[in-house]
Amino acid sequence: MMHDRSIAELIAAVRAGETTPAALADHFLARIERLDPQLNALITATPERARAAAAIAPQTGSLAGLPILHKDIFCTKEVKTSCGSRMLDNFVAPYDATVVERLHGAGTVTLGKTNMDEFAMGSSNENSYYGPVKNPWNLDHVPGGSSGGSAAAVAAGLAPAATGTDTGGSIRQPAALCGVTGIKPTYGRVSRYGMIAFASSLDQGGCFARSAEDCAHVLGAMAGFDPRDSTSVERDVPDYVGGLSGDVAGLRIGLPREYFADGLEAESRAAIDAAIAQYEALGATIVWIDMPHTDLAVSTYYVIAPAEASSNLARYDGVRYGHRCDNPQDLDDLYTRSRAEGFGAEVQRRIMVGAYVLSAGYYDAYYVKAQKTRRLIAQDFQSAFESVDLIAAPVTQAPAFKLGEKADDPVSMYLNDVYTLPASLAGVPGMSVPAGFAHGLPVGLQLIAPWFEEARLLNAAHAYQQVTDWHTARPAGFE
Ligand code: GLN
Repeated sequence: MMHDRSIAELIAAVRAGETTPAALADHFLARIERLDPQLNALITATPERARAAAAIAPQTGSLAGLPILHKDIFCTKEVKTSCGSRMLDNFVAPYDATVVERLHGAGTVTLGKTNMDEFAMGSSNENSYYGPVKNPWNLDHVPGGSSGGSAAAVAAGLAPAATGTDTGGSIRQPAALCGVTGIKPTYGRVSRYGMIAFASSLDQGGCFARSAEDCAHVLGAMAGFDPRDSTSVERDVPDYVGGLSGDVAGLRIGLPREYFADGLEAESRAAIDAAIAQYEALGATIVWIDMPHTDLAVSTYYVIAPAEASSNLARYDGVRYGHRCDNPQDLDDLYTRSRAEGFGAEVQRRIMVGAYVLSAGYYDAYYVKAQKTRRLIAQDFQSAFESVDLIAAPVTQAPAFKLGEKADDPVSMYLNDVYTLPASLAGVPGMSVPAGFAHGLPVGLQLIAPWFEEARLLNAAHAYQQVTDWHTARPAGFE
């Protein structure tokens, strides 16, 4: 079936004239129509636009005719861009994000926009104004968040690839919980232009696909300097696909003790241990390392991210665009009611926390302190990478939890991010690679590389996928 083919195979089939972009678009659009009602992975499907685009898609671009889904955080010209929020339910973007523009330029055909936690705040996709996404491996469980719609869609074969964003784990964690491959590049590798801001010093675009090889194809087209993003880095993009030798002999892989401590569920741990043994069998050297500031990551992140969010979200004032309340009595009423109606509970909680930690009396005690601990966490990575080439760890402590299980307990939800936040705070690239199952649900192996070593990361994941087939498993009912 077309949805079981790799991206390289799909592109080759288009080039050879064995299939057409239109036939590919039709195949995946039909799956979306048939299967998405169970999952709620899409906020907006754009079948007419997709068919029109496929009809004129070039057969030559690096991703010619490849169907793709975009997280609804990326602005898409003339298409609703909600960011999972009632605030932007009526927002139709007037321009394409750089990521969307580049992928379009490479020949992809956009099938629609995926569901997400409101403004990318969440780890379960239960914070979306459009309702939760279901995990295709078990519909009673969460797909992870905030890019849960993209991860669930790829897992269910609704598209060969989807974009996502990762501020504190939102690509790696849903990729792990849905059993797909996901990569969060180095901060600055992928343009943030047109990617709706949550916490600007952390937000980074990336992608989901079934394999590392597929991700290499998509990331190569997304990445690169963009003068419209002041934190985008002017550095050449290597040939990620060409770099997939599958050879990891001699690679030094560090296992941080702090990521294997109490709290890691036993069956998940067994899957991670087996994956590490596999790397050893492939000739990698495994060493235990210390990253002593790991336990500061959750508190550091949950000061910095809300601080930046409270500032970024000040733009939603009910005046220029987005939700506006009915019959405002005066300007204050316009602001307060528009924002109270437009933002959900989690977003309001973060704005309040952020405003508090930035306020005159608490700025030094919380915000400045968090910036200092952030530096210590980054230094842990810097020193680790003096002795190892790559870090391997779990992505989450346990497989996907049940819908509703943590919904009323924000602190337990935040603690869920313990293994993904450090790499985000340091800005280093990270991946989640399917590495088996625990309690019938997927487990992800996290690989972390030094700054701008996405090629090393992708190759290490590719090597593992050459000798395992976890990434090819498909959930029952979505074959
Ligand atoms: N779960 C984290 C949060 O709620 C990370 C989200 C993200 O990476 N966008 O903020």
